[in-house]
Amino acid sequence: MTQGKTSTPTVLILGAGMSGILAGIKLKEEGIETFEILEMGDSVGGTWRDNTYPGLSCDVPAHSYDYTFEPNWRWKSTYAEGPEIHAYFKHCADKYGVTPHVRFNTRITSVVREEGAWTVTSADGMKRRAQIVINALGVLVHPMDPEIEGLNSFEGPRFHSARWDHSVPLDGKRVGVVGTGSTAVQIICALADQTSKLEMYQRTAQWVGPNYDTKRPEWLRALHRAVPAVSWAAGRIQNWVLENTFCKAVVGNKTMKNLLEKLCRRHLAQVKDPVLREKLTPKFELGCRRLIFSDQFYKAIQKPGVSLVTEGIERIEPKGIRTKDGELHELDVIVTATGFHALDYTRNLIIRNEKGESLGEVWDQGARALRSVAVSGFPNFFMLIGPHSPIGNFSLTGISEIQMRYIMSFVRMIKRGEVKAVNPKLSAQDSYNDHLREGFTKTQWVTGCSSWYLDKNGLPRMYPFTPNQYRQDMKDPDVSEFEITTTA
Ligand code: NAP
Repeated sequence: MTQGKTSTPTVLILGAGMSGILAGIKLKEEGIETFEILEMGDSVGGTWRDNTYPGLSCDVPAHSYDYTFEPNWRWKSTYAEGPEIHAYFKHCADKYGVTPHVRFNTRITSVVREEGAWTVTSADGMKRRAQIVINALGVLVHPMDPEIEGLNSFEGPRFHSARWDHSVPLDGKRVGVVGTGSTAVQIICALADQTSKLEMYQRTAQWVGPNYDTKRPEWLRALHRAVPAVSWAAGRIQNWVLENTFCKAVVGNKTMKNLLEKLCRRHLAQVKDPVLREKLTPKFELGCRRLIFSDQFYKAIQKPGVSLVTEGIERIEPKGIRTKDGELHELDVIVTATGFHALDYTRNLIIRNEKGESLGEVWDQGARALRSVAVSGFPNFFMLIGPHSPIGNFSLTGISEIQMRYIMSFVRMIKRGEVKAVNPKLSAQDSYNDHLREGFTKTQWVTGCSSWYLDKNGLPRMYPFTPNQYRQDMKDPDVSEFEITTTA
């Protein structure tokens, strides 16, 4: 390749969550200070800033969720709680000098390529130009309200789990939680002893496995803090266990899937009432939707004052929720733990290339990228946790590190002046997506359930192979997969 003039590229990172902070750290490691992170909120942390519901924790073990280069955090238990994780990412952003690069309260409205560079604009009138954009906007960002008649007619407080209203007192109140996903399960566990009546509105029973959570004694926390290698090793062990059990089960290893199913059924057996147990028994194959991990859920749902409502919601009324059997369930507070507009990468955002094509239109039939990180026709536009990332079978932090390492190979080429722009070849992107398609049929995700894991054509929106395979796929970029514009 022709060696041009060395120049530090300008980079705009969209979002200061886990992956945006990581992108900033990696650019700085490379000596690149000419970057800015544009962040919608008023602090870093993304999901861990926005979600503050009671019981919030990460169901990936803490040492598998932290950055591999910053392992020595004093996690209080095997699974970290939301506020701890938020504090961790803030700490990383500060320690690695990323925070001063963040422009807060910046809601990006458009990302447009013109005259060989990207122009990013925001709702407050900001305009920035850069050679490279790294989209790190996240995948579970926009809360989804349920389509239930009368949703806004309720007289009391009603809020989405991702926008928890902490001004609303819950002690001794009658609370209804709509949904049975990971979020609702964590909320039920947290509120079971606090409310006078707690109702979980179930449309679909979920698979719930134990997570063997343990509190960590002070000496162990101190050891982890003092000796990073111990934390690092703990992370690798936890990863190994995850990758050889759950991760394999969802992408076609039937032995592992059957083992996990046995474990979940045994876990469910602690529900004593056979009627309740039957109601909680999933009717779809394990792993088709995201598996929920909770030691406490089945205990919580059997507590006095806690009940599972399975009659189906007819509508919401001023006094509460009316179910399809005609009963009005009077409530003081309603929480909709009804999930997100998941993987909606272009929601409220125009991303347009030089030909005037918008990414939303290009992805009309489903988002497609080359190795999740780059999109044909959109040069120097990179994504973290983009389409078909292994989010259903790998830790998000691990994925981001692998993807950022791959992206940095190109950033370095640009910095060295060898390359001006990189654009995935459509043929390479197509053959990569064909390769993914071959893997889809073996996964649990296509065994016949509805879930946010599937696109509108019923195809998984995730990487269908093992994490090991993913590491191989992402090892070093094959430059022949890209159209390279040189500086010459
Ligand atoms: P979710 O898994 O999408 O679950 C949404 C729930 O709302 C489902 O039970 C759904 O019922 C229900 N629902 C939606 N519309 C409804 C309606 N009109 N009437 C009745 N019920 C309705 O959402 P989530 O629990 O917030 O979790 C989303 C994702 O966040 C998870 O899959 C996971 O990736 C992530 N998460 C992770 C953690 C963690 O610890 N790492 C914790 C929380 C969340 P149906 O099942 O019938 O559709």
